[in-house]
Amino acid sequence: MVEYELLIDGDGREGEATLSVTNPATGESLGSVAKGTREQAREAIAAAARTKDEWASAAPSERTAALTTVADELEAVAGDLAYLLAEETGKPLATAEGEVGEAIAQFRFYAGVTDKVRGDTVPTPDHRFNYTKRVPYGVTAHIVPWNYPLLLGTRSIAAALATGNTLVVKPPSQAPLATMWVCELLVEATPAGVVNVVPGSGSEVGDELASNADVDAITFTGSVGVGQHVLSAAAEHITPVDVELGGKAPAIVLDDADVENAARGVVQGIFSNNGQNCVATSRLVVHESLHDELVSRILEKTERITLGPGTDPETDMGPVITDSALEEMLAYVEGATAEGATVIAGGKRPDDPALEDGHYLEPTIIDGVTNDMTVACEEIFGPVLSIITVDSTAEAIEVANDSRFALAASLWTDRLEATQLADDLDHGLVAVNSFPVSMPQSPWGGNKESGIGREGGLEGVEAFTTVNSVVVEFDEMEDPYL
Ligand code: NAD
Repeated sequence: MVEYELLIDGDGREGEATLSVTNPATGESLGSVAKGTREQAREAIAAAARTKDEWASAAPSERTAALTTVADELEAVAGDLAYLLAEETGKPLATAEGEVGEAIAQFRFYAGVTDKVRGDTVPTPDHRFNYTKRVPYGVTAHIVPWNYPLLLGTRSIAAALATGNTLVVKPPSQAPLATMWVCELLVEATPAGVVNVVPGSGSEVGDELASNADVDAITFTGSVGVGQHVLSAAAEHITPVDVELGGKAPAIVLDDADVENAARGVVQGIFSNNGQNCVATSRLVVHESLHDELVSRILEKTERITLGPGTDPETDMGPVITDSALEEMLAYVEGATAEGATVIAGGKRPDDPALEDGHYLEPTIIDGVTNDMTVACEEIFGPVLSIITVDSTAEAIEVANDSRFALAASLWTDRLEATQLADDLDHGLVAVNSFPVSMPQSPWGGNKESGIGREGGLEGVEAFTTVNSVVVEFDEMEDPYL
């Protein structure tokens, strides 16, 4: 059993209670984290505020050393950390290992950025000199979701630390353990008060982080509804917010696509991480000429998926995060049938008695969906693929863009004009002949209701800094009002 305390001003603290963490594959308890209060969130913010000038003026080499130390330490425990992550989220071990690897890569990427955050000189008339500096915001709040807590948490944490900000992190309540492990290492590697961590309820700790006047910038990754709340709470003090929200990504398969390659990508794009990806390609938009062949290949690959606990190396797909999430998914499937679509795979809990204690949903495919049906409009956030058939490239692009979400899209075609078609897709991330992927050096973020701002890559530097402009006048002032 793993137990973690709050981390405030370099010390462990007890909370008002504890949050118990269960394994979604078995319902068994894995451990607990201290549950912080609103008052403790304020203490954490105060600690981060006291330390912000010291960390902002630390030599870049000091920040590089801290990030590199944590990356090295994570590498040494990567296997155990991935196992814990697979246990608490239910994701397959290979996915958890990939996530830990990505977290390490992000620490290394941003460790290399600390001495490259530069301002500019601005062309002006000769009697003036104008330069700009990129400066950290100060205290940054990081509100993290459960589906990729390490990948997403460390992306913003590493960028914020590298650029000289201090932090208050709120890990997700469903799966906080791996994040706490990483944050303990960060606390040890940095001066007291630079990294503070307060697990707790969203409506108390999360809300305090979003509304506190001493928080200088917020990064939130999660659902649209909570993101809207965070934006309105932050508006009170005009606090800048980067919001990374939900998605309903289309996988567009055009009539010239390599069908086998597309089938491979579509199956991974929807069913990886147990279907709980913000960029899950949950709408397959396929040209009618390829529909039958593509669907038969997708079905054949889907039948090979082995369900089980993420920690079993044989598992391809684990449980979804909670029983209530599973119930919602089953209701979506039922609703699709009522609206006239046809379930052609899954759509129910598995029959296997060995899986009855977990929140499992069979990989589910629904054909005959139109883009106005509920399953095509709402984010299901589980292993449910909706198939929409179109008869032209123009219709495919139109359907792909006809969504309130605009996080990611994948486009399957061998046409040379793929990059022109990518320009026509109003989505923050477009992948050509791949499902959407995350890389430390690459920006990440969505359009429309999928978010505001970009994290990752050098855009992550912009996300956690602001530009101050200095103008020097060389001429003497004219005597005014003569
Ligand atoms: P969620 O919105 O329920 O919770 C996200 C975080 O917000 C959690 O830490 C939660 O405790 C906190 N929170 C809850 N209520 C709050 C409040 N009132 N004030 C402040 N914070 C509060 O989302 P989730 O279920 O953890 O994650 C799934 C969602 O996240 C999906 O919609 C998914 O698409 C989205 N997501 C987006 C991206 C992206 O990069 N765009 C990545 C991963 C997940």
